Order: sequence, then structure tokens, then C-alpha cells
Amino acid sequence: MADCVFCKIAAGEIPADKVYEDGGVVAFRDISPQAPTHIIIIPRAHIESAADISEDSAHLAAECFAAIARIAKSERLEGGFRVITNAGADAGQTVGHLHFHLLGGVKMGEGLI
Ligand code: 5GP
Ligand code: ZN
Repeated sequence: MADCVFCKIAAGEIPADKVYEDGGVVAFRDISPQAPTHIIIIPRAHIESAADISEDSAHLAAECFAAIARIAKSERLEGGFRVITNAGADAGQTVGHLHFHLLGGVKMGEGLI
């Protein structure tokens, strides 16, 4: 998608601190980290948000979660981690390309974030 910052990162047109990539998924460190480990995981394919996942595209989300498990190991998050996806304005989504936040490296509370 032409004006999508995450599509551009996936294509290598915008630099990012990538920690993992394969044919379907790219993961990179968040530019404004909210935890000691804060990684963004995206499908290469442009999907707006979790609200747009269909049976045809659900495998892309599954691939993201397979990558999340691998990255959690390589980042040594054996103590635990949190995965968040924001979908739409009320959730505070700022980049309109489906992404998962992987947060860890700190003991988190039991609340929403
Ligand atoms: P959202 O609020 O949409 O769930 O999360 C978007 C996330 O993407 C934010 O945490 C923001 O810091 C991160 N982000 C936005 N633009 C860039 C960028 O150009 N590079 C990187 N590495 N992260 C970005
Ligand atoms: Zn995109």
C-alpha cells in the first residue's frame, strides 16, 4: 500500500531495527519503546487491522504468532511477555497496517497494559 509506513519498512524502503523476517512476516523494534523489549510484528501483506482478518487471511495472523514465539525465545523473554494489537480509533491504532506489539523485559501489572 503506497502510503503505509509498515509496508515501507517491510519493503526496506524505510530503515528499521529488524529482529526477524521471513517470507510472510517482518518484526522490528518499536521506534518509541514502551518496555525494555518492544517489538512490532507485521504480516508483509497489507491488512488494515484485526477487524479485517477473514478466514482467507487468518493464516497471516497465525504466522505472526509463530514469529512471536520464536522472537520471545531469541529475546530471552522466558519470564513472560505480553502481545497487544490495537484495532481502530477507540483502541488508539495509529498505523493502519495490522501489527502486534510484543512487550517484555519487565514485570507488568495485571491491568490492560
Ligand atoms: P499502534 O498505536 O498503531 O498500535 O502502534 C503503532 C506503533 O508503531 C507505535 O508504538 C509506534 O511507536 C510505532 N511506529 C510508528 N512509526 C514507526 C516507524 O517508522 N518505525 C518504527 N520502528 N516504529 C514505528
Ligand atoms: Zn501496509
